[in-house]
Amino acid sequence: MLHSNLQINEKGHLTLAGADVCTLADKYSTPLFLMDEERIRENARTYISAMREFMGEGSRPLFASKSCCFKRLYEIMAEEGMGTDLVSPGELYTARAAGFPLENAFFHGNNKTDADIEFAIDSGVGYFIADNREELCSINTIAKRKGKVQNILLRLTPGIDPHTQQKISTGKVDSKFGTAIETGQAMELCRFILTLENISLCGFHCHIGSQIFEYEPFADAADIMLRFIKDVKDELSHSVSILNLGGGFGVRYIEEHPHIDYRENIKSLGEKIDEMCLALSLEKPAILMEPGRSIVADSGLTVYSVGSVKTITGYKSYVSIDGGMPDNPRFALYESDYTALIANKADKEADFVATIAGRCCESGDIIQEDVNLVCPERGDYLAVLVTGAYNYSMASNYNRLPRPPVVMIRDGKDYVAVKRETHADLIRNDI
Ligand SMILES: *Cc1c(COP(=O)(O)O)cnc(C)c1O
Repeated sequence: MLHSNLQINEKGHLTLAGADVCTLADKYSTPLFLMDEERIRENARTYISAMREFMGEGSRPLFASKSCCFKRLYEIMAEEGMGTDLVSPGELYTARAAGFPLENAFFHGNNKTDADIEFAIDSGVGYFIADNREELCSINTIAKRKGKVQNILLRLTPGIDPHTQQKISTGKVDSKFGTAIETGQAMELCRFILTLENISLCGFHCHIGSQIFEYEPFADAADIMLRFIKDVKDELSHSVSILNLGGGFGVRYIEEHPHIDYRENIKSLGEKIDEMCLALSLEKPAILMEPGRSIVADSGLTVYSVGSVKTITGYKSYVSIDGGMPDNPRFALYESDYTALIANKADKEADFVATIAGRCCESGDIIQEDVNLVCPERGDYLAVLVTGAYNYSMASNYNRLPRPPVVMIRDGKDYVAVKRETHADLIRNDI
């Protein structure tokens, strides 16, 4: 199986963290999100311990909230000592409601409103990751009114394309996020920030992309960012103590994706950063990373019930399920890869190639194309694996489908972390 928390039991059923997926689907109905709590904790601990060990004092991961956001998850993150990054007042509100210590929260976003800024300052968010001049002016004004000095990191674009591993000066500099180093605008903006009395510039942030399976692109980004930190020190006599390298490592969604050892990659990255700081005679900043999918993706799967199985003679077969793009829009958005199987026949040979279609009134409502399945029948349970990230958090009510519940598995026991939405929930704001 793709990950060690997925097995097949004596009944031939798929299990997650030792729990029979079909039994849970019988109990909670479908569609259903299942999550393995221990796997989330293990992934968090791997980042926390490796970053502390190989990147030095103060270095730590921040869980990227956008990948999966509900109260119970923030409780788990708080218990593990993870920081978090938040991109909206809604995520902030959720973290606050869960009692997450907001001094460990970093507030992102390329277009924070004045109301967002005020809400975050009032909530005691540790750091803003400031994106642009307008935002900086607004933070300064609001912080001044409240008699506070707000800590910030400034988001920069180092001009790196992680998937070609080249420093491309146009592609990634051309972004709605952050400010470019290469054009000189980043230095200019730093000069401006240092004139703002109610903002403390503590460091810099960059995010080069997602699904990165090796440390080298992060090292390339670190190289550019550390040089910039050195330039700021030399030109503006201002030292910063934090470098945030953004989103985390990739995740294995399908057999063709590599296994990745996070600890080894963090170790290698830490060693590179040490060498770079030495070469630049720069005191090493605390390193932050913002893993999202690599904390939660492999903890989760989605269970659906199969409805129709349709073969178009001479073309292909469609298997329709009782969910679709409202609970997993990622194939429709990015043609993302997923592994699927019939959970109640997991030990049988898969020899039926089909496209998995959702139930929405939309031809693009596809979960995956040309998947090899055990020939499915109405009533079978179809599991889509590795859906812990960017599924629940991207879920919508398109076609007025209620969002599925999130059920956690811990020590072989299951509990509801997020309830299933009801039809009454769907009309609660309708006048
Ligand atoms: C999306 C994103 C992340 C998380 O990326 P993963 O691939 O889920 O680790 C972190 N930081 C920023 C700024 C992002 O946009």
